[in-house]
Amino acid sequence: MKKDATPPPHLEDLILAVLARLRHPGQGLDERALNKLIRAFNRRLAPGDKQFAKRQLLPFYFRVKEGQPERWQAWQVDADLEGRLLRSLQMKPGRTATGVATISVLTKPWSCSGDCLFCPNDLRMPKSYLHKEPACQRAERNYFDPYLQVVSRLRALTQMGHRCEQVELIVLGGSWTDYPGAYQRWFVTGLMRALNDADDPAHLDQQASLRRRRYQDAGIANQEDALADFTAPAQALVDAGEINFNHAVRELYGQDPGWRKVALAQEGSWAELEAEQARNRQAKHHLQALALETRPDAIDLQNLADFERFGCTRVQIGLQSLDPGLLQLSGRPATLAQMRQAVGLLRRRGFRVHAHLMLNLPGATPESDKAEYRRLMEEPGLRPDELKLYPCVLVAGTGLERLYRDGRWRPYSDAELLDVLVSDLLATPSTVRISRMVRDISASDIMAGNKRANLRQLVEQEAERRIAADGGRILEQRYRERHNL
Ligand code: SF4
Repeated sequence: MKKDATPPPHLEDLILAVLARLRHPGQGLDERALNKLIRAFNRRLAPGDKQFAKRQLLPFYFRVKEGQPERWQAWQVDADLEGRLLRSLQMKPGRTATGVATISVLTKPWSCSGDCLFCPNDLRMPKSYLHKEPACQRAERNYFDPYLQVVSRLRALTQMGHRCEQVELIVLGGSWTDYPGAYQRWFVTGLMRALNDADDPAHLDQQASLRRRRYQDAGIANQEDALADFTAPAQALVDAGEINFNHAVRELYGQDPGWRKVALAQEGSWAELEAEQARNRQAKHHLQALALETRPDAIDLQNLADFERFGCTRVQIGLQSLDPGLLQLSGRPATLAQMRQAVGLLRRRGFRVHAHLMLNLPGATPESDKAEYRRLMEEPGLRPDELKLYPCVLVAGTGLERLYRDGRWRPYSDAELLDVLVSDLLATPSTVRISRMVRDISASDIMAGNKRANLRQLVEQEAERRIAADGGRILEQRYRERHNL
């Protein structure tokens, strides 16, 4: 039989075929048509050749546009056609469904003035975070540098076909208020500068490489093996309970010559920050919202005045429980009066209140958790605008491990947890948005407790089943957004 002389297609042929279809909008190129086109190209490949996938197309497109302008010009893509290409090839459309690109960044490893029993002690991270979480991995690769983290996320979102004109920045990393003021100012200035510099990609690349080189010259690791080696001896002592996290993190980063060197440059002024804020008013990548996180007892007028100067619009506060007895058992003393005062102050100063509540704390029962949730929703002085509703899970090396081994704490069964969350979802008024029902902890880090990443979906399905049987409605905001209600 005569061999087919047609050469196998290249990724460029595929992108040109997509562009050709988009030049005739009448033909349309919806998800189905695009998949059909990709399948037709894949059929022309030799057996064993790597198949084309939708996710390769935009990164390839931007690589050519930025690195080989003449080749890109030959494709004759104007702004309108590029807009249609981005919409067709966009991955994970939910990431910017509200018109705002959300970027989470982490501050550097630091101690926390709290010492909560359930809180992870990963020395590679600021207190409470674990290095396998996606935002944490990104932070490590970027030396926890604010500028580099924003650059890397903007690039990834753009290559996935998202527009990033309106940006929400979420700053994670234990309690923001525990970091020195000069570091806070440097950090937010870095975030803003990256958004501003993004208007000029060549300048952005140059600044990003300069920053990278500074960390590399200081000998700071950003690769898995080296990071693990750097923290392993101290981590072993923390895990064995011989030293605590705060002590270890201070010693490790405070004595390391590389971290000491870069820390000298991690100090910023209000004047620098305000200059970047002024630039951002004209910038193409506009900061629309900024979230900072802390504890209720750290909310006072001075801190809130600083939050305003940072441009913060939303404050994440870890309530975890309304029951002082439960909080005491978790090593997190706080009173209801402090929580009411924190929520009240945030409201009066115009911040959006994003609370964290933890189910299944030591001493709690499914019934007490349900009652506490109803109280949170019914008391206007406590009710947040948004909520992260986490079931407590056991992470190795935490104080909770001791209670678990002694039989003084056990995770709820799957059925108990589902029942509590369904009850909570049904008790949520229309003004509240539950942004999360599980934390982004990798299943391999969870020794006991919920590992189902699709928990929210299961909760919604069970809530719908109960409503069909008993009547009622789900008023919670995110549910209505997702179902266009
Ligand atoms: S206050 Fe937050 S970060 Fe600090 S120990 Fe408690 S849970 Fe962890």
